[in-house]
Amino acid sequence: MAQEMTSSEIAAVKHLQETSEHPPHKKQKMEKVNTSAKRLEDRLNHILSCSVCLDLPISTCMQCCHGHLMCVACFHHLLADARLKDEPASCPSCRVEISRGSCTRNLAVEKAISELPTKCATCGAIFPRSSIAAHEKHECSERIVTCRFKELGCVWSGPAHELSNHFDNCVHPHKSPNELLQCLNSIKDQHSQQVSLLHNITNLLSCENIAYTEVQLQPYRTDDFVTKLFYASNRFHLLGQAWVLKAYVSAVERHPSNPTVSADRKLSFQLQLKSKVSEAMDLDVLLLKAPYEKINVTPKLFHATFASDRSECEQQLLETDDVNRMLGSKYLNVRLFMFHQKH
Ligand SMILES: [Zn+2]
Ligand SMILES: [Zn+2]
Ligand SMILES: [Zn+2]
Ligand SMILES: [Zn+2]
Repeated sequence: MAQEMTSSEIAAVKHLQETSEHPPHKKQKMEKVNTSAKRLEDRLNHILSCSVCLDLPISTCMQCCHGHLMCVACFHHLLADARLKDEPASCPSCRVEISRGSCTRNLAVEKAISELPTKCATCGAIFPRSSIAAHEKHECSERIVTCRFKELGCVWSGPAHELSNHFDNCVHPHKSPNELLQCLNSIKDQHSQQVSLLHNITNLLSCENIAYTEVQLQPYRTDDFVTKLFYASNRFHLLGQAWVLKAYVSAVERHPSNPTVSADRKLSFQLQLKSKVSEAMDLDVLLLKAPYEKINVTPKLFHATFASDRSECEQQLLETDDVNRMLGSKYLNVRLFMFHQKH
């Protein structure tokens, strides 16, 4: 027969249960181990890092004859700098002369670094550096993959763990020969468009007057009652004239006037001539992404005539995904070429 417990006894039992699950001293000890392990990792990162760029060498690690570490990129950089200045290269830590002959690889450091833990950029799991590349490329369930039938026009892409689900619903394996032929023809069309774009650009490179510049498009808002976003560059000079490049975001078809309603967006570019010209200017204009720009700008080549009464020309450039990426980042940097053939 169970005996009645007093409230103080119940409290004591409760306390006992709590402490037996997580004895406080053990918990503290575990935290200590965790933080000291982390500190060991940080200390190793610090000890094994390149003395020039302070990053961990990811491939070859070199050392001076006194043992100071440098990643191979910085090592070559130091040698190249010294060659340009026509003076001997020296170790940034101890000033001893360094050269290909006097420096050696440090295999132990390379191996130690390959065992240090690092985080997968997509799923966040921790792996030794030596296996992270293989994980990110072949194993990570969050890595972005495309459908096997991409070549036949399936545009699906998504995390690897959703691929089998997509296969169950993908319509491309069930297409008829006629439909497949259509797919192949449209791929062929795209390809020949690209070839002719390259062909035209190659021809234009022989043009007598070529000018180019980098243009940064910054976001602004219109003064309308419902303000609209647009992008504009500062005034820039090319071929002796002043220009401004603007870009407008608009929705594709469904709600052309209101780009906030639909996610299918496109970006139209407007090139404006800001100076007066006495005679008409026939131009071929090429827009590309600028160096280091991460947003993928599909090269756009177009012909435009500018005259005293025609100072603007408009072109569509980016499509949905890239426009959304652009809206997410602050600026868009493009490189703008102008080809001017005098008649
Ligand atoms: Zn370095
Ligand atoms: Zn040194
Ligand atoms: Zn991963
Ligand atoms: Zn598919």
